[in-house]
Amino acid sequence: MGLPSKRRTSRSKRERAAHFALKPAEFGKCSECGAAVRPHHACPKCGSYRGRKVVDTQKRADRKLRRRA
Ligand SMILES: [Zn+2]
Repeated sequence: MGLPSKRRTSRSKRERAAHFALKPAEFGKCSECGAAVRPHHACPKCGSYRGRKVVDTQKRADRKLRRRA
């Protein structure tokens, strides 16, 4: 098994970890309803993607309510 040849100092550890921060999520705008949408995802509000309706949001909402009850 390979072992680290040198001890990693607390400074080098911190310097490496300086790049670990998460970036805030990016959002675009839905072309149908204007809601905030993540890129390459269908709109969570109206279910459209690239001007086409791909998700039945009404059906999803009904299902969510049924599961909660
Ligand atoms: Zn939308």
